[in-house]
Amino acid sequence: MKKYVIAMDQGTTSSRCILFNEKGEICSIAQKELVQVYPQPGWVEHDPMEIWYSVMSVTVEAMQRADVTAADIAAIGITNQRETTIVWDAATGNPIYNGICWQCRRTSDRIEQLRSDGLADMIHARTGLIPDAYFSASKIEWILDHVPGARKRAENGELRFGTVDSWLIWNLTEGRVHVTDYTNASRTMLFDIHNLCWDQEILDYFRIPASMLPEVRPSSCIYGETLKFGDPILVAGDAGDQQAALFGQCGFSRGDVKNTYGTGGFMLMNTGSQPVISDKGLLTTIAATSDGSVQYVLEGSVFIAGAAIQWLRDELRLIDRASETEYFCESVEDTNGVYVVPAFSGMGAPYWEPYARGTIVGLTRGAGKAHLIRAMVESLAYQTNDLLQFMRTASGLEIAALKVDGGACANNFLMQFQADISDVQIQRPECIETTALGAAYLAGLAAGFWKDQDQIRTNWKCSRVFESRADQEKRTSLLKGWSRAVNCAIDWAHH
Ligand code: ADP
Repeated sequence: MKKYVIAMDQGTTSSRCILFNEKGEICSIAQKELVQVYPQPGWVEHDPMEIWYSVMSVTVEAMQRADVTAADIAAIGITNQRETTIVWDAATGNPIYNGICWQCRRTSDRIEQLRSDGLADMIHARTGLIPDAYFSASKIEWILDHVPGARKRAENGELRFGTVDSWLIWNLTEGRVHVTDYTNASRTMLFDIHNLCWDQEILDYFRIPASMLPEVRPSSCIYGETLKFGDPILVAGDAGDQQAALFGQCGFSRGDVKNTYGTGGFMLMNTGSQPVISDKGLLTTIAATSDGSVQYVLEGSVFIAGAAIQWLRDELRLIDRASETEYFCESVEDTNGVYVVPAFSGMGAPYWEPYARGTIVGLTRGAGKAHLIRAMVESLAYQTNDLLQFMRTASGLEIAALKVDGGACANNFLMQFQADISDVQIQRPECIETTALGAAYLAGLAAGFWKDQDQIRTNWKCSRVFESRADQEKRTSLLKGWSRAVNCAIDWAHH
């Protein structure tokens, strides 16, 4: 009798493994930090062998802690940092270069070139992405151009490309299986999200041979089995971290939205079987599904969310721990007219102003520490609200409830304030490890450990609901102040 599903969660800063039981409860967890390699300013790399070994070691550790063997495991699901690009030799399995991390800006000029070549609109229409150095396409090209002999070897069919999920599945299956899933493929900037295939014209533009690319499969299906842990275990789930989180939140239906309050903020909205292509920084990608259907999501991100709280702690030293912010927020009636716009690295959707900078407005002699902290915490909610309203308009869908996760969703003040200004019900689940849970669900559904999505829905337990309490007049006046503050941050960029 199989008792658990393993989620391998390979993130930007760490690799984690979580064992879930049938109720979707965490039974064991192990984590290991990942070394960040910065060869030049703006460049970020990861060692692919370290990624692989760290995933193996946390998995063994999590299994040992729960005293389980491979025979107890129904399936493995993988979720990963998206876009990070690895190229390896098909015969030896050795990477030919470090993994180029999604954060790496080394190909920014190449993207400028692409824009002047007039390809931005075509790429946006086909891939759903606004061309950027984040995505895998220009990173693969960079490796082929800069590693001696790489392009020739690629043309001879000797090299393989994969995002981190492909790399892990290749290693788990000892080179037998080279696959990825729709969610990861849709972040490479090489995948036609309408026809569900690699786009030959874009491949030609970047001179990437199709022989390098993984086969693209649904997020929930049996890719193969691994013998790395003794008895065979099915590898049966694969999704990029944000889509896995939406699945873990049971965001199966059109109009379902989740927001992650982590270092940055990530909002995903399920738009059903029709892709919504929007402008001003919202991306269109494919959702993780388990029933064979193809569903699309709209994605938006806030660059600085929990990072703003870290700034209060590490730079201003106003607090010792992030969790103390809640006390200070509750200790005052309001922000005393203060607004903070934490545009440390520009503003994303819907403003899209890369040169905006952090701004504090409305200071008077009466403004104190608690007001400033409260204004900073409120800024997380205002930025999230901007995205939410923008998604509402872009999709034409009503948003009745917002499911939340990520470290800062623990802040009750923030959640209540979000409900008030967005006039939406906030639902915080008991298990906020939604990314790993989503990967486990995808794998367990394919392996028959869970019967169907309805069974999983019954696992989703709300720990707390926050209802909107503010009246419309109050909401309008707060939002007007925020909008004026944002204009100040943007105005700064134009001088
Ligand atoms: P990531 O996965 O991006 O590393 P997490 O989801 O672990 O981030 O969330 C950590 C972030 O949440 C940190 O930036 C931290 O400042 C913030 N955070 C954690 N707890 C709270 C809290 N109670 N109130 C506000 N922010 C918080």
